[in-house]
Amino acid sequence: STIDLVQFCKSIQQQLKKVYKRDIALHSNHAEINILGDELKLKQVIIIVLDNAIKYSNDKIDLYIEKNRNHAIIKVKDYGIGIPEHEVKNIFERFYRIDKARSRETGGTGLGLSIAKNIMKQQNGEINITSVENEGTEVELFLPLQVLEK
Ligand code: ATP
Repeated sequence: STIDLVQFCKSIQQQLKKVYKRDIALHSNHAEINILGDELKLKQVIIIVLDNAIKYSNDKIDLYIEKNRNHAIIKVKDYGIGIPEHEVKNIFERFYRIDKARSRETGGTGLGLSIAKNIMKQQNGEINITSVENEGTEVELFLPLQVLEK
C-alpha cells in the first residue's frame, strides 16, 4: 500500500523516543514522500536500524527523510562507537556481531541487519552503511518512489 514516509517515520520516531528516552531528531524538507511497500516490514527495518543506533551510541540520533529523482532515502545517523573499516563488509551476515566484548552489554543476536537487508531487497530497495570507528555510523535506506499513473 501507499506509505507517506514522512508521517510514517515521524510516528516511529515518537514511539521510540518515548520507549528509549533518547533524543531522536527528525529532519525533512518535504511535507510528504510517498512510496509503495509493506508497512509492517518497513517498520521492522527502521526499528532495527534505529535500535542499533540507540545501542551503539549515547548522543542524539539524526533521522533524515529525503528524496532524489527516483528514490526516497531514509538516513539514520549516530555519533557512537562506529564500525571498524575491515568489519563493515561482515555486518550483514547472519549472526555476525563485532567483538563479543563490546557487544555483550547491549545484547542482540546479530540477526538484525541481515533481516533488514532481506526486507529491503524484497521491497525493491537497498540498504547502505558507512561508518567511522569512534565517530559514528550512517545507514541509508533507499526505496523506489511511488510513480503516479497518468
Ligand atoms: P540484533 O540482532 O539485536 O540487532 P546486533 O545489533 O548484534 O543484534 P545486527 O543488527 O545484525 O546485530 O548488527 C551486527 C553488528 O553490527 C552489531 O553486533 C554491531 O557490532 C554492528 N553495528 C550495527 N549497527 C551499528 C551502529 N549503528 N554502530 C556501531 N556498530 C553497529
